[in-house]
Amino acid sequence: MADSPAEVLDFLSDLASRARPHAERDLAELQEFARSELGLADFQAWDHAYVSEKLKEARYAFSDTEVKQYFTEPRVLAGLFRIIETLFGVAIRPDTAEVWNEQVRFFRIERNQAQASGPNPSLEGSPTVPLVGSLVGHFYLDLYARAGKRPGAWMDDVCGRWARPEGRLQTPVAQLVCNFAAPVGDKPALLSHDDVLTLFHEFGHGLHHMLTRVDDIGVSGISGVEWDAVELPSQFMENFCWEWEVLKHMTAHVDTGEALPRALFDKMLAAKNFQSGLQTLRQVEFSLFDMRIHARSEAPGDTPAGPSAAGWIQQVLDGVRREVSVMPPPAFNRFQHSFSHIFAGGYAAGYYSYKWAEVLSADAYAAFEEEGVFNPEVGRRYRESILEAGGSRPAMESFKAFRGREPRIDALLRHQGMAG
Ligand SMILES: [Zn+2]
Repeated sequence: MADSPAEVLDFLSDLASRARPHAERDLAELQEFARSELGLADFQAWDHAYVSEKLKEARYAFSDTEVKQYFTEPRVLAGLFRIIETLFGVAIRPDTAEVWNEQVRFFRIERNQAQASGPNPSLEGSPTVPLVGSLVGHFYLDLYARAGKRPGAWMDDVCGRWARPEGRLQTPVAQLVCNFAAPVGDKPALLSHDDVLTLFHEFGHGLHHMLTRVDDIGVSGISGVEWDAVELPSQFMENFCWEWEVLKHMTAHVDTGEALPRALFDKMLAAKNFQSGLQTLRQVEFSLFDMRIHARSEAPGDTPAGPSAAGWIQQVLDGVRREVSVMPPPAFNRFQHSFSHIFAGGYAAGYYSYKWAEVLSADAYAAFEEEGVFNPEVGRRYRESILEAGGSRPAMESFKAFRGREPRIDALLRHQGMAG
């Protein structure tokens, strides 16, 4: 989605300068806490993890077990489905299919009659089959951990939308897989807030795959979407899990039926934004280092494996740290040797995409904050501009079709408590 290394470097520098005052405040807070509460006058980089854990415990402690009592799986799933149905003009209903385990459920998504429209006007030239009141797609839902199941959570496509050459329209099918703790006895499964975020995240990928209206299988749904834009729809959905108006209705204590107390929610939110300035600068430092070493095809005047190539890499990292870091690590630190993301994790010249996608999804969600979190008109625009378009056009065009402008970093900073 980013056009050039320069665009990425500018984006990162901008983010660094906006986050810096907050990072300086975070650091001062740590130093003060270390001095007054832990008797540590000479705070060093290597004290950071310990001191910040202690500070977090002192300021924002809450029990995950307590939070879990409020997030029963049926209530969360109903809340999630209601958001999707309200915003995206669809209905989700249980359906039947052969499944690989008795815990797996199967659902169909139908276009709502009232919301149904003709071909998507924002996808000009797409020979879209009209879908008035018809089937949009299906998904398998496999939520619980069990022996022998691969750990983690993911959305994967079973098949994509395709106007087949013989004239039949193949509708998309997704599988949404998580590893939540299964229900015990006659009580419903209880989800942690992290579980809820995971579920919403994977559903975002799922909606991108299933709500597409592109008929060419090579670019329908998630196919052909630039990889620095694929996390937009998934991270977008996570925002709802931090929305009080959503959580109020999506929670009910497993024994008393009470909604999540506001005070507990406020603590969760504060803990989420804890030290966000320092965390942002850390991510920018990694991203800048990655982009700078990859923006050159080789180290200056050197063979790639020579000793001065290693020296050059150290120099690049030192330069980035001088510019960005407010808490420089000791000189013997060799972080770059274990930064496996960029030489063994598929993120070479791509580490920035984590922050990039956060900016996109926060800015997209801000449209809902501005015009109403449950505003179906904004939902329709988001569905048509981003979810339906898939990989049929550049992601920047889709974003601009929705937002009317290029992405801005303000919403992300605000969501992370770094406004102003
Ligand atoms: Zn994802």
